[in-house]
Amino acid sequence: MKNKTTKEITCSFCGRPQNETGMLVSGENANICDSCISQANEMLGPEGGAKGKKKTLISESLKNKKIPTPAELKAYLDDYVIGQDEAKKVLSVSVYNHYKRILKQGEDDGIEIEKSNIIMLGETGTGKTLLAKTIAKFINVPFCIADATVLTEAGYVGEDVETIITRLLQSADYNVEAAEMGIVFIDEIDKIARKSDNPSITRDVSGEGVQQGLLKLLEGTVANIPPQGGRKHPDQKYIQVNTQNILFICGGAFEGIDRNIANRMQAQTIGYRSDSQEAQFDKSKPLQYVSPADLKSFGLIPEIIGRLPVITFLNPLDANALKLILTKPKNALLKQYKKLFKIDDIKLEIDDEVIELIVSKALEYKLGARGLRTICEAIMLDYMFDAPDHKGEEIAITSKYAKSKIERLNFKALNAA
Ligand code: ADP
Repeated sequence: MKNKTTKEITCSFCGRPQNETGMLVSGENANICDSCISQANEMLGPEGGAKGKKKTLISESLKNKKIPTPAELKAYLDDYVIGQDEAKKVLSVSVYNHYKRILKQGEDDGIEIEKSNIIMLGETGTGKTLLAKTIAKFINVPFCIADATVLTEAGYVGEDVETIITRLLQSADYNVEAAEMGIVFIDEIDKIARKSDNPSITRDVSGEGVQQGLLKLLEGTVANIPPQGGRKHPDQKYIQVNTQNILFICGGAFEGIDRNIANRMQAQTIGYRSDSQEAQFDKSKPLQYVSPADLKSFGLIPEIIGRLPVITFLNPLDANALKLILTKPKNALLKQYKKLFKIDDIKLEIDDEVIELIVSKALEYKLGARGLRTICEAIMLDYMFDAPDHKGEEIAITSKYAKSKIERLNFKALNAA
């Protein structure tokens, strides 16, 4: 197609001029570039063409309107996530209700079940993303993770909120129907809190403005997604995705919210001071008392809070939990290393003292569960390097050896990361 102003030949799909493409195929009234051809090819999938079978993107059971029960969902989560019982229970019930709402609303009796998006509070590395990812995997629906910190209001530099849906659509292989039943995890939602005492006179483009944008997605809107996932283009045809039945799970550390919680709890007891109530307030785990009022005083706008009616929390991970994370889940870290060595026909033995050491270092440097992997990598590196030459052997990692390898790690740098 000739561009009227410059007479330049451009791709009719992505708008790129010929000199920016590898090849431009011209038809009667349109042109298509090499990258749009390959993208279209990917969208058709290996079977090719509309007659080809679509990839299974929603589990058979959901298709047959059989929804896993909350107990089944929780049992599955138990296989992969250590502890966090309260969050697992809340998540299982919410997911069950969500799919009941979509699939079994039944006849129109005037009662409309509202969507219940979820917000999870907990320190970084305690399993928020893992919970959301695992539950989406079990029910086999499209899933994506979005980072709230990179979002800005539409029109500003950065990603506008609709890019979240672009990502979900990509994970659904551009199957709109499947994407509309998907789950989105929005990480670091606390970072877009309104900064009321912000001295800056510039607009709060990454705070309240983003919350307003998100609000529309959370409550249900038709998002216009550019077909090739790139930037929006005025003459483009968009793929329309309705977000009404997409389940949003938000997560954040909400650092400092314990003060808001404590203040509110104290204010509640003033006037009719009840010792029993004060005694019940467990200061070591303040998140368990979190309420919508605390989210508001932290800086989330009331409309957003209203769209996240299910609130739950994750506990910090103690030594026992970290030890279990290393050894117990179906794909526990140490099981993964054992498997890696087994592929080279090597038997890996790790004694209990080494496990204690890894846990104590992760705790000492406040690295949480994320640190476990880094520490294990440092310990295993040399053995993994030499593994192909040691087929048929047995490797026993001792705490002395582990200590010498851990010493070389720059924990300060890791902590800052
Ligand atoms: P968050 O989203 O809370 O910051 P993640 O879910 O991304 O944390 O956790 C980071 C990694 O730490 C996970 O991939 C997982 O390997 C491990 N992990 C964290 N918490 C748990 C847990 N409760 N059970 C099992 N593994 C965990």
